[in-house]
Amino acid sequence: MAASKPLPQGLHLQTLAVREAEAKSQFGENSEALYLTSSFVQPDAATAARRFAGEEDGYIYSRFTNPTVASMEQRLAALEGTEACMGTSSGMSAILLMCMGLLKAGDHVVCSQSVFGSTIKLIAGEFGKFGVQSTFVSQTDVSAWQAAIQPNTKLLFAETPTNPLTEVCDIAALAAVARKAGAWLAVDNCFCSPALQQPAKLGADLIIHSGTKYLDGQGRVVAGAICCSQQLIDEKFMPVMRSAGMSLSPFNAWVVLKGLETLSIRMKAQSDNALALATWLEAHPQVARVYYPGLKSHPQHELALRQQSGLGGAVLSFDVKAQGPEQSRQKAFHVIDHTEVMSITANLGDTKTTITHPASTSHGRLTEVQRQAAGIGQGLVRVAVGLEHVDDLKADLARGLDTLI
Ligand SMILES: *Cc1c(COP(=O)(O)O)cnc(C)c1O
Repeated sequence: MAASKPLPQGLHLQTLAVREAEAKSQFGENSEALYLTSSFVQPDAATAARRFAGEEDGYIYSRFTNPTVASMEQRLAALEGTEACMGTSSGMSAILLMCMGLLKAGDHVVCSQSVFGSTIKLIAGEFGKFGVQSTFVSQTDVSAWQAAIQPNTKLLFAETPTNPLTEVCDIAALAAVARKAGAWLAVDNCFCSPALQQPAKLGADLIIHSGTKYLDGQGRVVAGAICCSQQLIDEKFMPVMRSAGMSLSPFNAWVVLKGLETLSIRMKAQSDNALALATWLEAHPQVARVYYPGLKSHPQHELALRQQSGLGGAVLSFDVKAQGPEQSRQKAFHVIDHTEVMSITANLGDTKTTITHPASTSHGRLTEVQRQAAGIGQGLVRVAVGLEHVDDLKADLARGLDTLI
């Protein structure tokens, strides 16, 4: 692989997204090459021995490293403003790798109670089985995070904004709590992506990504990444990756690498669409409440704008006006089933707008009591806003909302 020409210092995020880590083959292609290979041929036995021993750089096997994956990692690290990045096979495997690398039996994790459902299952359930303790706290209450700290607390884990209620936590305040406790702060930056929010600049030690969402941006692949220091990768994560193998496929890495090139314009356009749709929904007589950080009515509106480059992101939720759980569910289903443009799917981060009923899909495994505690009622509808014209999206929701009785 030929090195690309060195880039000048101080480039903007938009330029790095297109130009950082343009790995080229001997053919000098303008689009990045895809190195779709499981292993790499060694020039001789002695070189192979040095590479396996870690005494010399060089590709060995794609479970460890791969040039296309390395390009994606270098580009994403540049966008997040971290020293390094490690690609993983999914967002969940990024969290798995992080926990395997950082934690051992007897350690304690403080985690927001509003993180992605599988994250709670992984930390409390799977790692609980291996003796890792965890406490789940209110996303937005910094004093609750502080109060949950124990002498064996090693990791604080937050996700902001959250799904589906878009609660925003103060990353800098949590970083201060973590620093005082001598623990790491990890932030799942899936909803904002580095185009809107760079948690490392606010003091987070690790940034978790589901590349499946906005990084790919077009709903094609499942991918993940951890962005952090080179030291954490060398000492904590590469040894686990080599043995456990939650590696990112080169093809999926290539798709994400190309997705990053359009990330900031997509995030801006989809956030603008979401704000317009949220504003319209807030004025609709059949809507009881809209959850969107870009609205003035959002409890953490000021913080969100400060932390997220002035934008609310592309995900919003709303409660339909109804009485009691049964009617709420029926009305929410009515709105969802009357859409003709939006995709009915629980996925998000796509250029195609998606609509879902969290209480019966993403949060369907919770009990009614747990759902009530989380504020996820039967009348809640989540929309992950895409790139369609916003007037078509309004019309799509109006079909159901205007025919509610
Ligand atoms: C989807 C998602 C994940 C999990 O990512 P996968 O790529 O599906 O494994 C983790 N965190 C958040 C916030 C997500 O939305």
